[in-house]
Amino acid sequence: MDNPCRWIHFLSIIVGFLSFFSCESSSSDDAVSRLKAYLRIDTSHPNPNYGPVTEFLVSQATELGLQVQKLEIVKEKPIVLITWAGLNTSLTSLLLNSHTDVVPAEELKWKYDPLLAFEDGKGNIYGRGAQDMKSVGVQYLEAIRVLKSSGYQPTRSVHLSYVPDEEIGGEEGMAKLVSSSEFQQLNVGICLDEGLACAEDYYRVFFGERSVWKLVIKAVGAPGHGSKLYDGCAMENLRESLTRIYEYRKSQFLMLQEGSKAEGEVVAINNVFLRAGTPIPSGFVMNLQPSEAEAGFDVRVPPLVDIADLETEIRTKWAPTSRNLTYTLTRLQPQPSDGLRLPTSADDMYPWWDLLQVAVQKVGGKLGAPMIRPSATDSRYIRNVNIPAFGFSPISNTPSLLHDHDEFLNAKEYLKGIKVYSEIIKAFSSHVDITDS
Ligand SMILES: [Zn+2]
Repeated sequence: MDNPCRWIHFLSIIVGFLSFFSCESSSSDDAVSRLKAYLRIDTSHPNPNYGPVTEFLVSQATELGLQVQKLEIVKEKPIVLITWAGLNTSLTSLLLNSHTDVVPAEELKWKYDPLLAFEDGKGNIYGRGAQDMKSVGVQYLEAIRVLKSSGYQPTRSVHLSYVPDEEIGGEEGMAKLVSSSEFQQLNVGICLDEGLACAEDYYRVFFGERSVWKLVIKAVGAPGHGSKLYDGCAMENLRESLTRIYEYRKSQFLMLQEGSKAEGEVVAINNVFLRAGTPIPSGFVMNLQPSEAEAGFDVRVPPLVDIADLETEIRTKWAPTSRNLTYTLTRLQPQPSDGLRLPTSADDMYPWWDLLQVAVQKVGGKLGAPMIRPSATDSRYIRNVNIPAFGFSPISNTPSLLHDHDEFLNAKEYLKGIKVYSEIIKAFSSHVDITDS
């Protein structure tokens, strides 16, 4: 207890304990308590504790009289599916998705223990997952609680999916779920998934995201003595390739810098490794020009980029066989086949988009212009099976602190978000005049 932080942690445990039994009696306080309870379950990688999360979600669903299924498509990676059955189950349903895992926190760099869900005097609740995205997972349930107590009954079914492993790529989480028979049975017509907090007074919303490609370019050439000057060695071939790639990168960066394109609308390409040379214990052999050299790139591709054009660029300019270059390209998720089609529309004529805007406005909220998300989320798996998905977290007036130290959400903002979801769920689940249902 020599560290002042430790004292704060200790006192906050006492305060949290007392408040649980004494003053958190109103429905708002109860909603905040349930968020804190969820934040206190450690689901950080590399060893997320998914068992208690499943218990927490099952108990919440049972208390609300909702149907609940536990799936374990991959051992020890539970998926929880909660259903509020609609009056007309022949219509497509609304899916509210959230992931149960979080990234690890560097505890010593936080003001408060990231597992404590400590609420400071301003109402800021600190915890890993406060923004990304345990708050959203609880808000869905709290919104249903509000709607149920008002006597509302949905026409379309509302499903809630709680999936593991999003933070490590979702291969054993959402990727498995979308290809399961249980998912088919949900008959999903529209999905909401995570967005990002916004420091301004509006909510950010994403209608697509960039795809992740991994590109490795390999150069070969004649080996030679370190003293010799000659054409076409592997290092020279690779350097040519890097020059072309960096010209392309600069063209994308300039569009971003001058503001003609947003971050999610440009191709990002970053060199993540270079490999060449012959290692020895003291370093590398210094008088040998290697016969092979390799460079790896993280490439992020916006949905509106023509992927055939980009692949031609790679084949003919970045890695032409004429310069003894070959490449391997791994797409971490498939791209829509025509390369130009967006699976989710954000056109005012598109009913789901219109319903989302109107619902948010109804509770005094504001949506920003729809954007392409620069980084990947589980929405990509949903969109890849041709189900529209919006990335949306009702967090405004809050700095975006996902994966950062001191991640927090203010209790008032959290409670406002419950109202936002209540209105959205009501709007989506009661709407029947949609031709794609
Ligand atoms: Zn997330």
